[in-house]
This record gives sequence, structure tokens and C-alpha cells, in this order.
Amino acid sequence: MEINTFGVIGAGQMGSGIAQVAAAGGMNVILNDIKAEYVERGLSGISKLLGRSVDKGKLTEAEKDEVLARIKTSVDIRDMAGADFVVEAATENEPVKFELFQRLDEVCPDQVILATNTSSIPIGRIASRTKRPEKIIGMHFMNPVPVMKLVEVIRGLATSEETFKTTWDLAQQLGKTPAQASDYPGFIANRILLPMINEAVYCLYHSVGTREDIDMVMKLGMNHPMGPLELADLIGLDTCLAIMETLSAGFKDSKYRPCPLLRRYVESGWLGRKTGRGFYEYS
Ligand code: NAD
Repeated sequence: MEINTFGVIGAGQMGSGIAQVAAAGGMNVILNDIKAEYVERGLSGISKLLGRSVDKGKLTEAEKDEVLARIKTSVDIRDMAGADFVVEAATENEPVKFELFQRLDEVCPDQVILATNTSSIPIGRIASRTKRPEKIIGMHFMNPVPVMKLVEVIRGLATSEETFKTTWDLAQQLGKTPAQASDYPGFIANRILLPMINEAVYCLYHSVGTREDIDMVMKLGMNHPMGPLELADLIGLDTCLAIMETLSAGFKDSKYRPCPLLRRYVESGWLGRKTGRGFYEYS
């Protein structure tokens, strides 16, 4: 199946990264969000990152302009009627995603695959909201998308072999390395990563160490490129909390209970880098 036009829902850090990679790979992209200012913010982030590649001599100014010209912006989900493949990367919230998939199911032609970049919400639960469950799949990119090689491809119970193969091939076409995961909360990546991050927040909560000490132990002691609290700030504390809630609800196991300190930060609007304040402060 040939994919010429790639639809991306959500122009936040993940959606804009996915749009950048698809446009750099030669596809036309429709990048959609709920407000024009959010799409513009996503686009200017892409422009800034491409500008850095120009500065490093990896891209010419003309190539940068060509990539940007392939991205059309949208604030109307009906524009997705023109896409051959759609990836949803909106906020990690079940009702938001359920409504989006119902709408996508209405506006997109029957043959179009609707993928979700969800970090943890079961694919089957999203698929059951549509009339095309065989065409619903998880396509979980890692952050930052232009840098990270992995894409977790998650099959729901109803996902067809054809949908799986098209998505797998697409990940490779985008220069990524796919890994297959089954449809259980958190899949592989976040089932392992988020309990570790949550435990690091518990260490801070219990004053086992300062934020710097906790991050240093994992960087220098375990050779992690980033400490868990820095990484939580990069992911977004709201997203981290949402994933822990999904793990907790999905497994009913107390080991997945979110740390009260994580919840307090999110309730205070300290969401990490995207709001300028999380476990660390950002200017
Ligand atoms: P973000 O907060 O940076 O961006 C989310 C965007 O979705 C916002 O711009 C918001 O306006 C938009 N949005 C909300 N409702 C919408 C709707 N109805 N229609 C269109 N746009 C809508 O979040 P993010 O970090 O980019 O995460 C997006 C998705 O990717 C989530 O499902 C998240 O779990 C997943 N994800 C995140 C990471 C990460 O490290 N942050 C990694 C992998 C996957």
C-alpha cells in the first residue's frame, strides 16, 4: 500500500516530531491540532530543529524549506479525509482518544489505517470505538522522534496481518527499527520504564536523595544517558502520571500506584520542560 499523505493528529512534542520525520522522508503531511497557535508552535519547533541540522551542515537551507513545504497545517479533523495513513499523537487521555478515533473513523476512507502513538492505553479499547478494528494499531514512537530509532508496533486482538505489515514497513521506511509488542497496558517500553521513573519520584518523596543525586546514581551507576527525573521532565509529568494510572487500572497491582509527589506536581501545573518547571527548572 502506497502512503503519499501522512496525517498526524496532535502537534505537541511527539506529533511534531512524527510530522518532521515523515516530511523529511518525502511524504506530504497534514498536521492537525485543536488550535492554530498549537499547530504553529509545532511547526516552528520543527523549523528550529531543521535549522540546527542546517547549521551542522547535515541539510541545506533549500532542503529545509522543501521539508517544511510538505507539511500542511490543519485545525479541522475533516482534513484527515485526504490522508493515506493517520497517526494520532494527542494528549494521553482516554476520552480524548476515544472521541478522536470515532471522528477519524467517520471522516477517513475505509481503507485507511488509523494508528495511535499512545504510551499505554490498550489498542483494543480504542479499536472498539470504531467500525474498523482490524485497521487500528499502536505505532509508538520514542521521544525525541527525529533522534530515537525505536518504534513499538502494537497489535490489538482485532488488528489484521495486513495492517501490521503496512505499519511495520512504514516504520522502516521512516528510518526506524520496529519492535512488536502485545496489547497490555504500557506495552513493553513503558511497562518497564515508568515504574522505574515512579520509583525515582518515590526516592525524592521519601528524601532518599536529592533530585541531582537520584539522577546521578542512574547516570553514572547504571550508564543511563539521562537520569529518571530529567527524563520524566522530558516526557511530561502529565504523560507519566497518565501512564502510571493506566498501568495501575489495568493490572490492579499496588506496585503501579503513582507517587503522590508526581500527582502533586501535575496538579500544580508543573509538567516538566513543556511548562518550564518540573523536577527541574527550565528557562
Ligand atoms: P503534548 O502535550 O506535547 O501534545 C499533545 C498535543 O495534542 C497538544 O498540542 C494538544 O493540543 C493536542 N490535542 C489534544 N486534544 C486534541 C484533539 N482532540 N485533536 C487534536 N489535537 C489534540 O504531548 P506529547 O508528549 O506529544 O504526547 C502525545 C502522545 O504521545 C500521548 O499519547 C503520549 O502518551 C504519547 N507519547 C509521548 C511520549 C513522550 O515522551 N512525551 C513518548 C511516546 C509517546
